[in-house]
Amino acid sequence: MSYISEVIEATALKNPGEPEFMQTVKEVLESLAPAIEQNEALYRKHCILERLVEPDRQIIFRVPWTDDKGVNHVNRGFRVQFNNAIGPYKGGLRFQPNVNLSVMKFLGFEQTFKNSLTSLPMGGGKGGSDFDPAGKSDSEVMRFCYSFMNELYRHIGADTDVPAGDMGVGAREIGYLFGAYKKIKGNYENGVLTGKGLSFGGSLIRPEATGFGATYFFNEVLAHQGETIKGKTFCLSGFGNVAWGAALKITQLGGKVLTLSGPDGFILDEDGVSGEKIDYMLEMRASGRNKVQDYADKYGCKFFAGKKPWGNVKADVYMPCAMQNEIRIEDAKEMVKIGVKYLNEVSNMPTTNEALAYLQANGVLVAPSKAVNAGGVAVSGLEMSQNSERLAWSAAEVDAKLQGIMKGIHKQITDALDAYGMDYNLVAGANLAGFKKVADAMIAQGLY
Ligand code: GLU
Repeated sequence: MSYISEVIEATALKNPGEPEFMQTVKEVLESLAPAIEQNEALYRKHCILERLVEPDRQIIFRVPWTDDKGVNHVNRGFRVQFNNAIGPYKGGLRFQPNVNLSVMKFLGFEQTFKNSLTSLPMGGGKGGSDFDPAGKSDSEVMRFCYSFMNELYRHIGADTDVPAGDMGVGAREIGYLFGAYKKIKGNYENGVLTGKGLSFGGSLIRPEATGFGATYFFNEVLAHQGETIKGKTFCLSGFGNVAWGAALKITQLGGKVLTLSGPDGFILDEDGVSGEKIDYMLEMRASGRNKVQDYADKYGCKFFAGKKPWGNVKADVYMPCAMQNEIRIEDAKEMVKIGVKYLNEVSNMPTTNEALAYLQANGVLVAPSKAVNAGGVAVSGLEMSQNSERLAWSAAEVDAKLQGIMKGIHKQITDALDAYGMDYNLVAGANLAGFKKVADAMIAQGLY
């Protein structure tokens, strides 16, 4: 049996009941075949794959809190510190009812490769809770964040592990988490969290970074194909911070955004989501209602209850910005049928492995999330630099660095593909490029 199959099999046996984690382990490890074949003895000797799939540690803790009516609740908190070969653990916190260990591990594993691609010194980690922020008051969210940090503080630090936001964790939550950390520790270490408010060490462009970065990366892909964003139509899912940043940048570059989605369904705006309608996305999110139908009611466009845009709306480009496994094999078949050419994955692992293989086999060009959405964590890395140097860069400076980083990621991918004599397969290229740096650092640092 090949080294890769051995490790996949052993990992599946050790991690029963973790489908999301096994999905990414299979996808990533299988695409590393060209690198492993070239250096199998070395990687086996250093147990590189066995060590890559086993997190350094997985912390699970109790988070008790009291709601506004005085009723007590208990949620589960997580921090998975996956790999710190190239820098302190770095990755977001997700608050969502479907958070479990499998989801945390898939995200932490992906993060290790993504952070490596940014070219900044950041290892991989992820955390969160099965707490549902929807419909909670500010005081409830604050009490939850204080309780969560009451345990998390002992595991993090500017040179240890630097959490940030993810789904359900935005500027408000990071503010409360930082307040709690400062209170517990009794000193002002703002490099311990990123995504902070501007008044206490946050970076300009951080809120826009994931959506902007995703669009910059896609621009590189199109340039490679001899095309541009101008005049292209896009289907987005989600209506949170990531979709907002993407809609802003796509429209600035002359593209048209046709759809947004929420847990309740999707909206189709034939005139394009643009101008004040993009600002309205922020209002919808802040309302806590979690309903995209509000957009259709306000602007009089179509709303499709309980559906996603995938396969239902024809566009040049699909950009999922909501959730893992949004695009399944049925959707992939419809996409091919209606002639969608590009899938620019923004949310982490939005495509099942089966759908991904089908799309690639049928000529859809897929740009993988670990490259596409790396702009968010990259600007978090820039926030860490600004905090440690005690200074603040202008929006233009951060934006220019972000563009340079996204261009650099595309270049690393094409360089890796060239090195292995492969075609323009961005999924394999991103895994191969991300892997190389982490594996080199692990080997150099010895068996630990
Ligand atoms: N949650 C985002 C990600 O998946 C951001 C992480 C960060 O800024 O540390 O990359």
